[in-house]
Parts: sequence; structure tokens; C-alpha cells
Amino acid sequence: MKDDNCIFCKIASGEIPSKTIYEDEEFRVILDLAPAAKGHALILPKAHFTSLYELPDDCAAHAMLLAKKMAKQMTDKLHCDGFNLVQNNGETAGQTVLHFHIHLIPRYKDDGQKIGWEPREMSQDELAQICGQIIAE
Ligand code: 5GP
Ligand code: ZN
Repeated sequence: MKDDNCIFCKIASGEIPSKTIYEDEEFRVILDLAPAAKGHALILPKAHFTSLYELPDDCAAHAMLLAKKMAKQMTDKLHCDGFNLVQNNGETAGQTVLHFHIHLIPRYKDDGQKIGWEPREMSQDELAQICGQIIAE
């Protein structure tokens, strides 16, 4: 369950040192090398899964519980004003390291970061068509 060419496998296993803020049998949580804001961290499963699509259900559930716990702890200790969870899948969506991870991003008033998207207009007809496409058998 480890990919020898994967940097996050090596960090998660401890083979490459990292600024670790939490560790258990299943996960390591590290500070991001190029943070969006003070305390920006990454939840890494120790096992290699490329993205959300490959993630087993139990790992997905545990990862979200850990995200909640870390968000509370980091907000308490860093006194941030808000918190983003970001999780990218695939190059098109901004994933640069192909080992599943969740970004934990503390946010501060006036931190100058933009984490979001440009809203587009869409008609009710188009929304209905997309709705049908997604739920079609
Ligand atoms: P992605 O773009 O795949 O969602 O996020 C990858 C993140 O990993 C980026 O925020 C990047 O700064 C971080 N990163 C890449 N390589 C390393 C590394 O070797 N160590 C740490 N701590 N973070 C890394
Ligand atoms: Zn990996």
C-alpha cells in the first residue's frame, strides 16, 4: 500500500522528515511547505491512494473525522477567524501530488488569500438538465 516513487508516502511513513502536528496508525498531518496561511497543513493517509476515487470508505470517514478534530484544535491554538478544507482530485482540479490529501487551511481576517471560484450564470433549464444528467440511471 506504498508507492516507492511517491513523496507523500515517504513523508507519511517518516522516511522523509516533516513538521508533523498529528500522527496515528492511519494518518500523518504535516505543515505544508508552501502555506496559503499560517498553519496550513495536510492530512496524509499512510497508505497510498491516488485520489478520492480510490479511497476506501473507512479511510474517507476517518479522514473527515480527523479534519474536524484538527480544525477545532488549530482554531483554538492559532486563533484563526475561519477555516477552509480543500481537497483536489486530478490535475485539472489542481492536484499536484498524486497521493490523496486534505488541505487544512486556517483563515485570518485580511490574510489576502482567495480560495474559491468565479461564479457563472446558469439558467433554471440548464440546472435542470444537469440535475437529470447526474441522477440518471
Ligand atoms: P495539491 O495541489 O496536490 O492539492 O497540494 C499539494 C500540496 O503539497 C501543496 O500545497 C504543496 O505546497 C505541498 N507540498 C508539495 N511537496 C511537499 C513536501 O515535500 N512537503 C510538504 N510539507 N508539503 C509539500
Ligand atoms: Zn503515496
